[in-house]
Amino acid sequence: MINYGDVCQIKRDIASLLKPPVRMSVTEAVQEYARVKLASGNWGKWDIETTPYMREPLDMLTSRRHRGLIFVGPARTGKSQALVDGFVAYDVKCDPSDMLVVQITKEKAAEFSKKRIGPMLDNSPDLQPLLSPRGHDNNLHDKVLRAGNYLKLAWPAKSIFASSEWRRVIITDYDRSQTLLDVEGEGSGFDLALKRTQSFRSRGMAVAESSPGYEVLDPDWVPSTEKPHEFPPTLGVGALYNLGDRRLLYWPCPSCGEFFPAQWKYLRWNESETDIRKASRTVTCFCPHCGDAEIKQTAKQQMLMASRWVPEGCNISAAGEITGTLIDTDFLSYWMEGPAASFQSWEQLVYNYLSGVKDFEATGSQEKLKATINTDQGRPYSYQKSDRKRSSDRLAERAEVTTKRHVPEGALFLVACVDVQAGKDRRFVVQVHGNSEHERWVIDRYNIKLSARIKDDNATEPTERYHQIDPAGYPEDWHQLSKLILDRGYPLDDESGREMHVHLIVCDHGGEDGVSDNAYGYYRKLRTENRHHKLMLVKGGSSAQTEMVKITRPDNTKRADRKAAAKGDVPLHILATNRLKDNVSSKLERETEGSGYVHFPDWLGAWFYEELTAESRDEQGRWDKANKKRANEAWDLLCYNEAAQYQLQTHKPKFWLSPARWAQPWNENINVYHPDKQHQAPAAKQAAPRQRRVRYRTT
Ligand SMILES: [Zn+2]
Repeated sequence: MINYGDVCQIKRDIASLLKPPVRMSVTEAVQEYARVKLASGNWGKWDIETTPYMREPLDMLTSRRHRGLIFVGPARTGKSQALVDGFVAYDVKCDPSDMLVVQITKEKAAEFSKKRIGPMLDNSPDLQPLLSPRGHDNNLHDKVLRAGNYLKLAWPAKSIFASSEWRRVIITDYDRSQTLLDVEGEGSGFDLALKRTQSFRSRGMAVAESSPGYEVLDPDWVPSTEKPHEFPPTLGVGALYNLGDRRLLYWPCPSCGEFFPAQWKYLRWNESETDIRKASRTVTCFCPHCGDAEIKQTAKQQMLMASRWVPEGCNISAAGEITGTLIDTDFLSYWMEGPAASFQSWEQLVYNYLSGVKDFEATGSQEKLKATINTDQGRPYSYQKSDRKRSSDRLAERAEVTTKRHVPEGALFLVACVDVQAGKDRRFVVQVHGNSEHERWVIDRYNIKLSARIKDDNATEPTERYHQIDPAGYPEDWHQLSKLILDRGYPLDDESGREMHVHLIVCDHGGEDGVSDNAYGYYRKLRTENRHHKLMLVKGGSSAQTEMVKITRPDNTKRADRKAAAKGDVPLHILATNRLKDNVSSKLERETEGSGYVHFPDWLGAWFYEELTAESRDEQGRWDKANKKRANEAWDLLCYNEAAQYQLQTHKPKFWLSPARWAQPWNENINVYHPDKQHQAPAAKQAAPRQRRVRYRTT
């Protein structure tokens, strides 16, 4: 039964839907109606003057001439608060319509709902009464308003984009989700957003915002003089920006008054200062018009207040007059760089950049540098590679005279990397690496081809006496890894007679069922000997993976095998293979000994260097074999050794401040022993003391 009061209420609700939109700009509405949490913790009015560059993009969200708006910028600009929270506030109060906000994951959408949109609506006295009073109308992902319109807080999935028509769609952090490049085969997130808003014609609006996340596809690209605002060739939000009218943020020089782009390239600092903290404090901005190179951070706010968005094809005079011809397009697009970000100082920008460069020089890893260029500077990253290609001949020339299969001075722990080859030429390919904080040594490479299963008891020739190894067929064949790797010691190259045990085996878990089942079985066998911490099973992951090494515990116990309790008991390490390969590649490009250098022994043949160079990086930054038939084990196994560093935490400088006992100098190292002094290899030991298990635990 319908209550009369409800009917009245519904009539009033519908009446507000039929009312014409309140005529005010988005910025005015945001300042008037939306409340934001202030630094004091209280809720107060939104001060658009803290991020003056957001005023124009906000106001253009209601443009009837455009179907979409793209905003590229660094973090700490307030861009998503303005474009998302601000647009929601405007929509709810001034022009109610169905609105879809897409976050990168379902969890992010829930968090955004709980921490941002929910509290904003609840704490804004002009907005709160507009929410439906019926409790069940409002949950984490769906909000219904009195006017009858919906606000959905969702994530990139076909079902979300396919379901209904939305007048307004906003996609945030566009480059942080690879799904958005192609949502389940249906097209890019932005294309899908345009389809959903299409039926509203000029009243619809699709928005994408993000800091850049994809690499520059052509590292040799240079901006053209005809298209100075063009974004370098890349995927994601940068490519969308290029479809629009390409507005860049310009600000006026305090000395001459002429406008120039607020870009990273105009920052200067004392490059001869080696202390990066001190160097970053010398930062100033340079004016390309009058050459004033002493513009200080203190002038930034004033420059920001006078800043203007200038579209491609236009010029701005010192009086602030913009003239020229805009690109004819349905999309507005904005790109601002780090120096203009309200909540990030120039000093911090330079400091983060110099730390990234320092990290790259020390470790060969470009991760940190890429992160600061993308999220602090708001620019796309161009993968650094040396001009000279890694040719196998050049690597072979670096081979050093060494004592074969000995641990060279400087190497503190050994990692044996194993590639499992099933099929006809079945074998384990083993490559053993010595490691210190910064250097790597290839010290051994061989195949395990024979099992311990007797074929002919009378034969003396091993190939006659034993069966060929079969990693997919025989679980016990994996025990050869214990016998030939873990129980073995490598002599130290100091004539002391001492030897060193391998600290960790990194082994490919295989693709096929038989191989991976047996790999898991081998791990369980090692656990009964309490040396499962010596085995790291690995598998290549997707390029979207954020961690270098991610630990999963797949349910790999067969139902029949009644050990249901053991379900998920074996850790499987998923590798960000492509990024690990980037790291190793940078290391291989170092030509002189020192930090990051990889040493090769002189006894490995040309085939080894051919394997090392079998893969190259394509334009999209993916490592692949040009020739599918070419062997690449040396390269893959060197990359496994790199994954081991992440597992063991030895990639962190902090680890080396007080290294674990297995990474200490030979005299203190627990993996070093003297074979004549009754040393028993760990294989023969009973369970080690409990404490030790804690130390080696991998999770
Ligand atoms: Zn100037």
